[in-house]
Amino acid sequence: MILTITTTHSPSTDLGYLLHKNPGRFQTIPLAFGEVHVFFTEATSDRCTAALLLDVDPIGLVRKRGGKKGNQGFSLKQYVNDRPYVASSLLSVAVAKAYGTALSGRSRERQSLAEQPLPLEVTLSAVPDSEGGQLIRRLFEPLGYSVTLRESPLDSTFPNWGSSPYYSLTLQTQCRLSELLSHLYVLIPVLDNQKHYWVGEAEVEKLLKRGAGWLVNHPENELITNRYLKYQRKLAQSALDRLLADDTSDPGQLEEAGEQAEAELEVPLNLNQQRLQQVFEVLKASGANRVLDLGCGEGKLIRLLLNDPQFSEIVGLDVSYRILATAKRRLRLEELPTMKSQRVKLIHGSLVYQDARLAGFDACAVIEVIEHLDAHRLHSFEQVVFQHASPQTVIVTTPNKDYNQLFESLPGGEMRHNDHRFEWTRQQFQDWANSVAEKYGYQVEFQSVGQIDEQHGSPTQMGVFSK
Ligand code: SAH
Repeated sequence: MILTITTTHSPSTDLGYLLHKNPGRFQTIPLAFGEVHVFFTEATSDRCTAALLLDVDPIGLVRKRGGKKGNQGFSLKQYVNDRPYVASSLLSVAVAKAYGTALSGRSRERQSLAEQPLPLEVTLSAVPDSEGGQLIRRLFEPLGYSVTLRESPLDSTFPNWGSSPYYSLTLQTQCRLSELLSHLYVLIPVLDNQKHYWVGEAEVEKLLKRGAGWLVNHPENELITNRYLKYQRKLAQSALDRLLADDTSDPGQLEEAGEQAEAELEVPLNLNQQRLQQVFEVLKASGANRVLDLGCGEGKLIRLLLNDPQFSEIVGLDVSYRILATAKRRLRLEELPTMKSQRVKLIHGSLVYQDARLAGFDACAVIEVIEHLDAHRLHSFEQVVFQHASPQTVIVTTPNKDYNQLFESLPGGEMRHNDHRFEWTRQQFQDWANSVAEKYGYQVEFQSVGQIDEQHGSPTQMGVFSK
């Protein structure tokens, strides 16, 4: 099992200072279940690679578990298995042992470099993925890695046996070394899904420590927590609760604060209600029964839909756990008669990742959401909604930037909400919507929402796509 880390930061040999390892030396560190060797395979001024080779002693591993041997009897599986060769929790232990100081973000000689994002590349051999490589992508891509996978054949002498569930992996990114090591520390055992030791409360602490700053907003945080804590539901729930309670960077929280400011700005128009009412009417007229509300926020549209029996299934999705919890509370789902509450489902997910749960709906509303997505993610969003979910009707609303100058309290050039990544003029929105419609086989019509100003249009713009 080999893990390499390369940087092209100049001078690249500073990697030695960051890992606290001398590029000129071969070092061996003993572990309870084998040894870990660290050596540098290249160390020029513009490229430096450190390799960590984990040498697991399969006999030692079994003995280490010890104790109940008499009861277990002899089982070959204890000795002959994939454990010595795959990337697993053993590798996390080795990383913590060999690169512990770097993992915690400290460097005696190069502290400022340790705090700086660097161009980094990682290669890993034999990473297990039971989902054909998809899970590796779902775990690493949201953290900004570009992922290259190579399948390994089950046996190279018998190619017709097909491929194995193990992948060779290359990850490229620009981030702090400690972040990269933390991601690997948590995600490798998650992919492997078999911990080599008993999972208890201490593991919750480790997960929260190593997941600090990134896990809470990861779209797969539930899966990561469950697997890391080996499906111990109580532990996983307590970890998730603490993760959310301690979080100050949750977009949901930002969202709520920004939402308030945006609502105050738009209050004289009561724009929010007009917008939702108009969306409701378009959905009603489309004849849709099964509706998705993507980026549902605290569920205001869902409340309108719930009061009309035409809408037999309503699924609200949001990236923020916190806001989903608010939606659940405000909709009083637990107090409604079962017949009614059964029609609604709130799910956690992100609109920039393909999601099988979104298939098979009649219509989908994306109300005041796209402007919260990074512009370079819009392409993924388009594929998720128009290509994969692909409902008959899609309604998208977004602020009309042309109108902003009519808001007296909005300083020139500012956006309406502190989390908006962009706001589009009518021309920009229509250009985007027309090109999306053409690409995915939809027709699109535009509507104005709110009072119309002759010159600047209406405060909100809406595109209604239909197939
Ligand atoms: N549609 C609601 C809320 C709009 S606010 C309404 O009109 O009242 C924008 C919402 O989009 C927030 O709840 C935010 O958490 C959510 N959001 C932002 N980025 C998202 C993403 N990538 N995937 C899903 N939801 C997202």
